[in-house]
Amino acid sequence: MIWYNFLTSWYGIFGFIWALPVSFLSFIFSTMWLLIFRQVRFKGRFGWIFEFEAIRGNLFDNVWGKKWAGYSAGCVVVYSSSTSDWEPTIVHERRHSWQVFVFGIFQPITYFVHYVYNFCRTRDWFDSYYGNIWEIDARREEAVIRSRMEVRDEA
Ligand SMILES: [Zn+2]
Repeated sequence: MIWYNFLTSWYGIFGFIWALPVSFLSFIFSTMWLLIFRQVRFKGRFGWIFEFEAIRGNLFDNVWGKKWAGYSAGCVVVYSSSTSDWEPTIVHERRHSWQVFVFGIFQPITYFVHYVYNFCRTRDWFDSYYGNIWEIDARREEAVIRSRMEVRDEA
């Protein structure tokens, strides 16, 4: 996928630096705690992205990994591999990282604003989430990998 280049090429450092405030805050408030309580482990780097996997059988994976199994915040992606859906999930979350590499701190701000705006209109948490511009964008990329998986499975 062409947008992967910004995450994996040398010039991704500009996005990495631009995303640092978001990466730092999210790490301090979430991923760091998951590491301390041994709920996730470092899985590897994807270019400038640091990916953490939920440890199977642990509380976090059991509670959270069975449903929607990923989140992204700046240069950090956390996912669970215990669902069959982890491959599209990781593409979806990398796309959120890409969004922050491009829009910096404005991504979470506009994410929140659009979420609240949607909620004021619909009074529906689910609709507000799915109608969010950033989620629509991430799901579009997720759909690309899903259609490729279908082709692969049929072959
Ligand atoms: Zn999303």
